[in-house]
Amino acid sequence: MRIDVVSIFPEYLAPLELSLVGKARRTGLLDLRVHDLRDWAHDRHRTVDDSPLGGGAGMVMRPDVWGEALDDVLGGAQAHPGEVELVVPTPSGLPLDQRTAERLATVPHVVVACGRYEGIDARVAEHYRGRGVAVTELSLGDYVLNGGEVAALVLVEAVARLLPGMVGNPASLVEESHGAAGTLEYPVYTRPPEWRGHEVPEVLLSGHHARIERWRRDQALERTARRRPDLIERLAVEDLDRRDRDI
Ligand code: SAM
Repeated sequence: MRIDVVSIFPEYLAPLELSLVGKARRTGLLDLRVHDLRDWAHDRHRTVDDSPLGGGAGMVMRPDVWGEALDDVLGGAQAHPGEVELVVPTPSGLPLDQRTAERLATVPHVVVACGRYEGIDARVAEHYRGRGVAVTELSLGDYVLNGGEVAALVLVEAVARLLPGMVGNPASLVEESHGAAGTLEYPVYTRPPEWRGHEVPEVLLSGHHARIERWRRDQALERTARRRPDLIERLAVEDLDRRDRDI
């Protein structure tokens, strides 16, 4: 998979050299390229913003600079529907969730356009949609960050770990929070079995796989009902088995 990130702070993306994403880059599983938007500016000051038309506070990122950058980075995207997707992080986008990460992990080429200031001139997204490019405006949550770089870091990590071969034991992806079960994950424990007076639930030391599985399922449902009742409401009846507790 290829991911391009365009930003006025390319250094912000340095952590993508580390850990599993860094390894995926080195092994060629992930072709991640980071670009400085100012490389497409034309004046001496490498300006990428201007004041908002209609007045108001702050500055807006210019469509002409973004247009030149995205034309280059997207390449002939409109000629390859389904092959390329432009992601624009914005607090006014749809919430990024696991389903979106799973879908993006199947797109061969994703381009992330990181906004700053008051955001990117609205015509940029409109223009590429009009040219047949898939454009998704995504929000990390209901709060405002200074720029899209943190959203790009989150997106790359959420998507890259789903690529086949990325996570050593793919089974660890199956039972996770927001996975196929639609619940949060059950609590996890490791050695020692007793730590500072806190004991690991006895069932986990029993070696009885069916009981452990049942306990984990109950814990996941209980935890989800307590912390995220909205997720419980979304569970389909067929997702619940006969022995699931009343929730
Ligand atoms: N004026 C914009 C608004 O009220 O919607 C906020 C602009 S914000 C200061 C600058 C940039 O940070 C945005 O263009 C976007 O790239 C990024 N950003 C801020 N909050 C975000 C969020 N919750 N999710 C994704 N990106 C965000």
